[in-house]
Amino acid sequence: MLPISDHSKQANAAFTSTLDTVIKHVTDRHANLHATAILPTGEAIAQTNASLPVSLPARGLGTDGAISYLIDSILPGILQAQNGPRYFGFVVGGVTPAAQLADMLATSYDENVQVNLHQQTASTAIEQRTLELVLDLLDIDRSKFMGRTLTTGATACNVLGLACARDYLYAHSPHLPSSYSYAQDGPPSAPGLPSPPIIILSLHPHFSIQKASALVGLGSSSRIIQTVPPQAHDELAFDLDILEGRLREEQAVGRGVIVVYGVGEVNTGSFGNGQGLADVAALCRTHGAWLHVDAAFGGFAGLMPELRDHTKHMDQADSLTLDGHKWLNVPYDCGIFYTKHASALTNIFQPPSASAPAYLASGSAPSSAGVTDSAIAGTVNAADVPSPLFVGLENSRRFRALPLLASLLSLGKEGYQDIITRNVLFARKVAAFLSTSPSYDLLNPTTSHPLPTAQTPAIIPSNIVLFRGSSDSPFPPSDPASAASLTSRINGSSRMYVSATRWRGEACVRLAVSNYLTGSAEGGPDVDFDIVREVLERVGRGEEVKFER
Ligand SMILES: *Cc1c(COP(=O)(O)O)cnc(C)c1O
Repeated sequence: MLPISDHSKQANAAFTSTLDTVIKHVTDRHANLHATAILPTGEAIAQTNASLPVSLPARGLGTDGAISYLIDSILPGILQAQNGPRYFGFVVGGVTPAAQLADMLATSYDENVQVNLHQQTASTAIEQRTLELVLDLLDIDRSKFMGRTLTTGATACNVLGLACARDYLYAHSPHLPSSYSYAQDGPPSAPGLPSPPIIILSLHPHFSIQKASALVGLGSSSRIIQTVPPQAHDELAFDLDILEGRLREEQAVGRGVIVVYGVGEVNTGSFGNGQGLADVAALCRTHGAWLHVDAAFGGFAGLMPELRDHTKHMDQADSLTLDGHKWLNVPYDCGIFYTKHASALTNIFQPPSASAPAYLASGSAPSSAGVTDSAIAGTVNAADVPSPLFVGLENSRRFRALPLLASLLSLGKEGYQDIITRNVLFARKVAAFLSTSPSYDLLNPTTSHPLPTAQTPAIIPSNIVLFRGSSDSPFPPSDPASAASLTSRINGSSRMYVSATRWRGEACVRLAVSNYLTGSAEGGPDVDFDIVREVLERVGRGEEVKFER
């Protein structure tokens, strides 16, 4: 037997004695999540703040002391059930049982998935297979996206997408030497290079596109990120004639264009109608533009067959952003990035070998082009996988693949189809209720209805319901503060949670359904819907709804 140090002995004893406390706490939370008040009380927040250590203690509390302090004094002051079935703020998802447990295991091993040492650890191979299974889930041919990595979230994926686009567009600029490398040579200057040299054309881009564009050196003003007008009868679909005209114009002057196409608009959960994505992709190919698809949550909507048309052309993207920590219900943080151009990431993140620190080399050259002769095209071999640090921003990184893999395997494709379908049906039930209630106006646009006063019919394209108080309610649209007070009145119930937003220039309320616990089979009993309806009915009558179990 190997000897054990006193240190290890003490750490083991402290760990074991505290583990029971943690397991009990987590077990109780899990069992009671549906009945837990979503928000902490004001007093709980004040108590947590008051109990924060004033300074770092010279002598530590010990494992048991520190964990007991968290459970007793710190955790009561944070959101109590953001991962519960009636938290409808933002698009946060929850955490499936398998994902939660696997995340604990990932911490237990604490492996730094950074360098591909494939003869010493299978972790990079595990990550690659997980990324392939996500493509399988979406019915995307694995070989379409040979550039892949897990990130901290969709924002980080958007950074990667725009960085790849930037390098590609400079490398293909008619004004620069062929294969100009922005990553190597920085911002170019050349006679005739237009200013700005690269623009983004988009429609309702998520705010994170601005951040990403600023960070990768493209700029983020409205001169750089330009809005393509929507179609007259569909505010979520690009006007294709105008887009084509713009792409032609920019190609003529040799300006690089990135088209950012959102699959799933964040306020409405909607998609442009028809063949939008396929048509936009075709125009981008013809005119040399880079197509970046931001499908953070909406990319999974197609798991419900009737929404499939909106997502089925995502495989035509040059780069694709997805989130694991939203609709896939894996824990924070987990973003999923794909690109068609396998070398796009390594061109940026893998310094020429001369300048790569020797200790980061994996010690084996890729054996082939990266594709094996295995049965499924696009499946990669562990030996051929680039080190994660050469395809992404981070060097040291968490083993994010483990909870994602566990969740995918625990549910299978059918399990995820069930979550997406239940969530969408739930959103539609809420919308149907709101559209007939005298207290509310439903605002989601529908493709079949004229835009400016789209209060009927109650057809919700996916999982987000957008609404406001009606003019007969205590929260009339004529009062500019009414959406905020309606939001806080609903959230004050602590039985459900929504967020405030703006749409068509007006304040309104947004309810996003993305938790694996929410919703029931079509027509089945639905306790969460009953609670939501009761809260909305009472708030709509002007009542203040207090939390009761
Ligand atoms: C949430 C979201 C983002 C940002 O994602 P994070 O994971 O929060 O970084 C980007 N784009 C869309 C469409 C989103 O819904």
